[in-house]
Amino acid sequence: STKVSTKNENAEAFTTNELPNGQYLLDRNLNKNYPVVVRGDGNYLFLEDGRRIFDTSSGAAVSCLGHNEKRVIEQMNKQLDTGVPYIPSLFYRHRLVDQLCEHMIRDTDHKMKKVYLTGSGSEAMEATIKLARQYFWESNKETKRVNFIARQSSYHGNTIGALGISGHAGRRAPYLPFLMDNVEHISDCNPYRQRLVGESNEHFVERKAAELEAKFQELGPDTVIGFIMEPIVGAAMGCVPYVPGYMKAMREVCHRHGALFILDEVMCGMGRTGTLHAWQAEDVVPDLQTVGKGLGGGYQPIAAVYISEKVVNTVTNGSGQFIHGQTYQAMPVQASAALAVQTLKRDLDLVTNVRMQGKYLEKLLKEKLADHPNVGDIRGLGLFWGLEFVKDKENKIPFGSSQAIAQKIHDLAISEPHNIVLYPGTGCAGGVSGDHVMICPAYIVQSDD
Ligand code: PLP
Repeated sequence: STKVSTKNENAEAFTTNELPNGQYLLDRNLNKNYPVVVRGDGNYLFLEDGRRIFDTSSGAAVSCLGHNEKRVIEQMNKQLDTGVPYIPSLFYRHRLVDQLCEHMIRDTDHKMKKVYLTGSGSEAMEATIKLARQYFWESNKETKRVNFIARQSSYHGNTIGALGISGHAGRRAPYLPFLMDNVEHISDCNPYRQRLVGESNEHFVERKAAELEAKFQELGPDTVIGFIMEPIVGAAMGCVPYVPGYMKAMREVCHRHGALFILDEVMCGMGRTGTLHAWQAEDVVPDLQTVGKGLGGGYQPIAAVYISEKVVNTVTNGSGQFIHGQTYQAMPVQASAALAVQTLKRDLDLVTNVRMQGKYLEKLLKEKLADHPNVGDIRGLGLFWGLEFVKDKENKIPFGSSQAIAQKIHDLAISEPHNIVLYPGTGCAGGVSGDHVMICPAYIVQSDD
């Protein structure tokens, strides 16, 4: 760890002694003290106490280009200098927004047709829920399609709609009375915990597709709007990827019944798993897809819904517009950041680096940790890796439903002499899983790091 001078005059000028530890924000655990960040550079964050932290989690799997990427900041400054950080997309277009959307659609090889920009992943999920319902409403206002099917260990956001879709038991608990009734959760896709002894991928996938089919039959196939899943589960399980063939099989079930196949790539998308979109690795085009974190790389809050041709056509031929909208969407300054992030990602071929460094990270993790008595599973894809901790390795027994173990590992890792951030997560988040930490460094990471 390199000590650097990180005096922050501005922060000092505003510090008062009224509450200890500057605890005016309700964003965090009120009983804890948090390190104060003053500066960032590449893979590292610099703290007020002089320490340098290796940001192996890219913040919350967000800062895909690392910190202090001057080429992004320059583009944002250039845009801000025009004097219009914001304009309502209800009244105007802006060339940077147009360019961003064009870039995003081109990156899907035109397999998706339009994008809807939002300010966060949760908002993108809210928009998706409404657009999916509107798709059926456009053709038949009396549509019986009112149900969603999602998965037990899943997290799709914290707003009421997005949380209603999520299976994350801990995050849902206090708000159950407000969450949608018309969401059914089936099991997730977790071979470590669910594969039968000697079971092939093919058979495993067949069982999962049969479970989805059974849920359609139980609800009435013509009442289902769509099935929503994360290709690689992030916060709820700790980087658990799909099994090859799984997405295709699940999409087939949806399409057999005229329902939508919807992917949430807010965390795993935009290059994190070694293809720009996770579905591209399996060539399974979704009907709707959300992206978020890696879109703006933390330089601006921006997320999006990708919309397929059939949904676009239905809305175009129906009411002609998505019956939705928020004040902060498609802001020129957001677009300037996201466009710069996406352009750099392409020009520097960073998704190739994700694949290369991801292989190296996998090798290191497996070499060093696979034999540890409390490391139950090491899984991931690209630069998106999870370690699951168990009390009893042979029987895969988790430590419990608290975040204690993963949180303690985080607390230790971020302290001297390690100075590393690991992203901790709760076990038993709807399905059954142990505590985990996620390792998801920036796409610029090198093997020396
Ligand atoms: N979907 C997934 C898969 C996520 O991981 C998250 C956030 O972690 C969200 C949705 C919600 O995104 P946001 O926190 O930007 O609202």
